[in-house]
Amino acid sequence: MWIDSHCHLDAPEFDADRDDVVSRAREAGVEAIINLPGHIDHFAQAKLTRERYGCITGFGIHPMWIAGPGGVSAREHIAVLRDWVEREKPDLIGEIGLDFFIPNFNQAEQEWFYVEQLKIARDFDLPVSLHVRRSQDHLLKHLRRIKVRGGFAHAFNGSQQQAEAFVKLGFCLGFGGTATFPQANNVRRLLRDVPLENIVVETDAPDIPPSFLGTMGSRARNAPEHVARIGAMLAEARGMSVEAFAEVTTSNVRRNFRA
Ligand SMILES: [Zn+2]
Repeated sequence: MWIDSHCHLDAPEFDADRDDVVSRAREAGVEAIINLPGHIDHFAQAKLTRERYGCITGFGIHPMWIAGPGGVSAREHIAVLRDWVEREKPDLIGEIGLDFFIPNFNQAEQEWFYVEQLKIARDFDLPVSLHVRRSQDHLLKHLRRIKVRGGFAHAFNGSQQQAEAFVKLGFCLGFGGTATFPQANNVRRLLRDVPLENIVVETDAPDIPPSFLGTMGSRARNAPEHVARIGAMLAEARGMSVEAFAEVTTSNVRRNFRA
């Protein structure tokens, strides 16, 4: 059995067939989905998704939604998030983080949102799901200062040293569609070298389609059912049996949550 450790089930891409998407995932052996709405306007839908499908659910404000080009989140949204967390008791905080790849990003504003959300995770003793893009060292700097109970660094890419720093802080690193492409040398090297107890599998659906859905960076819709085939490909890259890899990565996810 698999867990999709990072998914956006509330994305409009799934509006037409969300029930079928979840049924197909279950048929493919996906026992749980971590669902992460990235904006306060999506939390109500995520609450319904949680009730209907039993998703492991995180609330958080994604860096792509933060002030800057196209950003629509105001600082007042942090108080709204805190209210939601208090009321709905999510399983984690996320997707939060820093993205220094988007054009004209506002670093100071992103860091402010990231820090405030880390504090919420710390105050409620929840793990976090991190968005990491060209921002590994900045994310680590704040994690060393604001202690949270670990979590996931999703779609991880970075140096071996940065990977080790996340592992040392108790984080699992998420591998998904990118690692299914033979040309993704760095990610595949990390997949081989990171301690097995720190590896989790993810889709980031509807994004990051794996190699069997199209070329790298294609716009094909990814879905949680694909975590099974992605996982099988990652197992092969890691030189493990599919069953053993599924078992250990699933328990790696579970370990982050209170029983
Ligand atoms: Zn995501």
